[in-house]
Amino acid sequence: ERPASVVKELVENAIDAGASAIVVEIQRGGMGLIRVTDNGCGIAPDELPTAFLRHATSKLRTEEDLGKIGTLGFRGEALAAISAVSRVDVLTRQSEDAIGAAIHGEGGAMGPVREEGAPAGTTIRVADLFYNTPARLKFMKKDSAEGAAVAGIVQHLALSHPEVSFKLLRDGAEVLHTPGDGQLLSAVYAAMGRDFAMGLQEVRGCGGDVQVSGYVTRPLNGHGTRGRQLFFVNGRFVKSQLLSAALEEAYRNRLLKGKFPGCVLHLTLPEDRVDVNVHPAKTVVKFVSDKTAFDAVYYTVMDALDAAARPKAPEKEEKPFYRTMTAQEFRQQQKPEPEKRPLGSYTARPAAPARPVR
Ligand code: ADP
Ligand code: MG
Repeated sequence: ERPASVVKELVENAIDAGASAIVVEIQRGGMGLIRVTDNGCGIAPDELPTAFLRHATSKLRTEEDLGKIGTLGFRGEALAAISAVSRVDVLTRQSEDAIGAAIHGEGGAMGPVREEGAPAGTTIRVADLFYNTPARLKFMKKDSAEGAAVAGIVQHLALSHPEVSFKLLRDGAEVLHTPGDGQLLSAVYAAMGRDFAMGLQEVRGCGGDVQVSGYVTRPLNGHGTRGRQLFFVNGRFVKSQLLSAALEEAYRNRLLKGKFPGCVLHLTLPEDRVDVNVHPAKTVVKFVSDKTAFDAVYYTVMDALDAAARPKAPEKEEKPFYRTMTAQEFRQQQKPEPEKRPLGSYTARPAAPARPVR
């Protein structure tokens, strides 16, 4: 569709490959060049051409796997689709292999697999996107708009995977870098800015089989738009009016008029309680029970806001020691000082008796 959709697919592949660090580089909004480098599991040389076949995936082994998708990809379409409309280079090595492998393709025609030295992991380079589909090329917005869309996608991916360090370079300039320390707040801070992060409060709860955790705006820090309501379901960024409504309902009468809450909320529920297959870009989900999802968000957020608004019970004051005892009592309580010996006068320890040799 556009550079951002390419970046999304490539980064999701890197996450599926178990990468702990992912670097995304784009030039001219991704129209000139997209390069995604990961330190994941790599691709076996003999599977490299297969990876570019339509509907080829390594992520489904049995029919039953379809009922419980645990990876971000499973359709086997991305590499085929991307390589059909660009010039692609892959350099990859599995950590157990001594040497890596590379492949080049243009317009979907893949060349031979070559042996090549490579760091463990995978680098995919996509150049001249849509060079062979002028009709599609016409639909692209300005490079700056395409670049902004890429930045948005990387931000969502970084927030859904705080355990992975993300770096985004836009025409050589670093515009995002998350630490990958596993803390959601660190990722929020790095990806959404200090001001947003400082205005948040933590929430955690569950309803039915839906667990909710993350951060929401403190009522005094409302925003002018809904643009900062980010929801993730089982690690996937989703757009959901249902969840937005649940969030805003929890803030009823707490925010100034015209202000909206922001959030970075993660919902976790059993894979078979949610259908991610309703939309090709997988940004729309269908819950088996809308009510359970709504209530989980609503009550988790409302309880957290209520708790924060409640005046705190005054901490039990500990009286300083000088109010509770006399100076004499205080001295008596002190531990006896270690016995002082003049320097250089300690007695040598008796030698340990020799152990009997068995
Ligand atoms: P899907 O992700 O749906 O399986 P793709 O077309 O995105 O389909 O990728 C095809 C296959 O290529 C994947 O199933 C995976 O085996 C392999 N692959 C793609 N990218 C990577 C990567 N960065 N690291 C390791 N394997 C990869
Ligand atoms: Mg994929």
